[in-house]
Amino acid sequence: MNRTAFEMTGGLKTGPPCPYCGESAILVDSSIVYGQSYGLIWICPSYPDCDAYVGVHKSGEYMNYPLGSLADKELRELRKKAHSVFDTIWKTSRLERGQAYRWMQEIMKIDHVLDCHIAEMNPKQCQELYEHCVNYLQTKEVTRGRYDKDPFE
Ligand SMILES: [Zn+2]
Repeated sequence: MNRTAFEMTGGLKTGPPCPYCGESAILVDSSIVYGQSYGLIWICPSYPDCDAYVGVHKSGEYMNYPLGSLADKELRELRKKAHSVFDTIWKTSRLERGQAYRWMQEIMKIDHVLDCHIAEMNPKQCQELYEHCVNYLQTKEVTRGRYDKDPFE
């Protein structure tokens, strides 16, 4: 049987519940998952039997807080895919980064910017965002200029 993340670390700091099994996440070094360290992560104490984890804020007021909700492999892939196509929108200068986030907030009908992180999204929302972004990139249905003035001014 696998040694769990909890057995390997003692899991002194406990965090939000794992959405898959309900156990409180623990703060550990990411080398548990990646074999080498990329900083800390919040992970299900039953990892690898329960394959759920999420990264942390690396600095600032929320340092070491979870970046979003714990995700299993499927959700991690969906978030990565959605993030990549979303980032293409601002990396190719179709919108500036801040404008792209406001656009995401609007199309995803999310009220607060802070709730609009891809790391918080569930599989359905990731898929929805992915489709919106692909559509945007293909058709430019929202033309540059629409947000040239900050819509929240
Ligand atoms: Zn779990």
